[in-house]
Amino acid sequence: MEILAFGVTADEEPLLARAFRDHSEGPHEVRCLDVFLSEDTAPIAAGYEIVSSSVNGDLSGRVLRILAAGGTRMVAQRSTGFNNVDLDEARRLGLTVSRVASYSPYSVAEFAWALAMAVNRRIVRASHRTRDFDFRLNGLMGRDMHGRTAGVLGTGRIGEAFTRIAHGFGMNLLGWDLVPNPACVELGMRYVDKGELFAEADLISLHVPLLDSTHHIVDAAALKAMRDDAVLVNSSRGGLIDTEALVTELRAGRFTGVGLDVYEAEAGLFFTDRSLEAVADDTLARLVTFPNVVVTSHQAYYTQDAVGQIIATTVRNVADYMAGRRSENTLVPDAA
Ligand code: NAD
Repeated sequence: MEILAFGVTADEEPLLARAFRDHSEGPHEVRCLDVFLSEDTAPIAAGYEIVSSSVNGDLSGRVLRILAAGGTRMVAQRSTGFNNVDLDEARRLGLTVSRVASYSPYSVAEFAWALAMAVNRRIVRASHRTRDFDFRLNGLMGRDMHGRTAGVLGTGRIGEAFTRIAHGFGMNLLGWDLVPNPACVELGMRYVDKGELFAEADLISLHVPLLDSTHHIVDAAALKAMRDDAVLVNSSRGGLIDTEALVTELRAGRFTGVGLDVYEAEAGLFFTDRSLEAVADDTLARLVTFPNVVVTSHQAYYTQDAVGQIIATTVRNVADYMAGRRSENTLVPDAA
């Protein structure tokens, strides 16, 4: 069978092709497209029973209806989050929808640390300077992490991996979560209310999912509560931070550094090349001009290990669908 995969990077294409070809219940062919699944691109899937979509694909009701009308019966989402999938409509249409319930938390936790240290130690500025043969140090002074306090919002799989690294740096550990993680407690983490975490932490890293209850969890008041010299890192979801409020604080000269791998208006922008277009997003344009801010485009998960696991699970999900099996990755149909 030939499967159609949307939103595949050139890095991923050979990995995906090999995984489908070599699978014990295969072989299957895969046609890879770099365009993302959307209302405009969904008609390409006509005649494909199985379609795979990337993290930023649009799986709204309208798109699912176009897919179903074209004969698609199964959608294999290549990400953990599924807030972009209209599950009710998928049920009504009788589609099977799968996701990748888990993959390497180290990919994201290590990247969050890369952002934290890049802004703390001014790595991007320093690199720009040396490329210009400007070898002065002025303005590049950072701070030791050892002995300082890390505040981790959300101590699930990624938050725990982030905490282990913070522990390795010799930091004091503050956590905030609905449920304390015993592994973090064992490392010495003290669970506090989020007001205390914002006020006390030298480094704040966000690892809660985006839900109604966590939307703009870092709002104007939270930002004001933070230390002027705090480092703030978001590698979870852009909607956790009120970006306009963040820009206001940055304009006032606050924060040692802010590292953002996600942005609340990233949909339709991140993962695409807009370098030759007029910039339409004033907030993002302002954000990237601050010398103490580093923005990356949702690449925290993008390691050989995590992408390999995502692909292997996606191929297994397709095999499960073909064999009529359900797994922890099956979103629709619901468990009997
Ligand atoms: P997880 O489910 O293991 O952990 C999430 C933690 O948040 C849990 O401990 C949970 O108790 C806590 N939590 C949930 N709702 C909460 C609430 N309302 N208030 C307080 N705590 C709450 O998830 P994970 O694998 O650690 O992933 C965390 C997030 O990282 C994901 O939701 C996703 O948004 C993000 N992520 C980003 C990338 C990237 O490439 N940037 C990749 C993967 C995941």
